[in-house]
Amino acid sequence: VTPGVRVGIGIDVHRLVPGRPCRLGGITIPSPVGPLGHSDGDALLHALCDAVLGAAGLDDLGSLFPNHEAANKDRPSTEFCVEVIARLRSRGLVVLSLDAVVETERPVLLPHRAALRARIAELFEVAPDAVNVKGKSGEGLDAIGRGEALRATAVALVGPRPETV
Ligand SMILES: [Zn+2]
Repeated sequence: VTPGVRVGIGIDVHRLVPGRPCRLGGITIPSPVGPLGHSDGDALLHALCDAVLGAAGLDDLGSLFPNHEAANKDRPSTEFCVEVIARLRSRGLVVLSLDAVVETERPVLLPHRAALRARIAELFEVAPDAVNVKGKSGEGLDAIGRGEALRATAVALVGPRPETV
């Protein structure tokens, strides 16, 4: 492994309810249900941010953007990504690769994978081929399987920013 390269993990779960926009990975997916949350409830971006922050040795998203603060109410999670990347940059670090699993019964993610990868690559300033997102159903076993919740798990690799000329 290249010196200075570090791995991080992030997990997030949100309840799914009718009438909320289904924000996931920084895009809006057509769906009868969407994530409940203090922010826009984008569990995939929250897991990715926590993975990146963890790899960089920084405080987690909940510490940086407490959900009891009115300023974070209904806030687009893409703004959290901008802040996370700024903190990473100030430490001389960049995101090298991201991988994530989204567990949900609905919506079906397969038709949106390419758009998710492209949007996440843009938000985290990483090449699209260094980003992956997989969808899994909950097999009907629990709140996720019944379509009442969505869970995202992400890993991130970060490393020193290449020397600029
Ligand atoms: Zn969240």
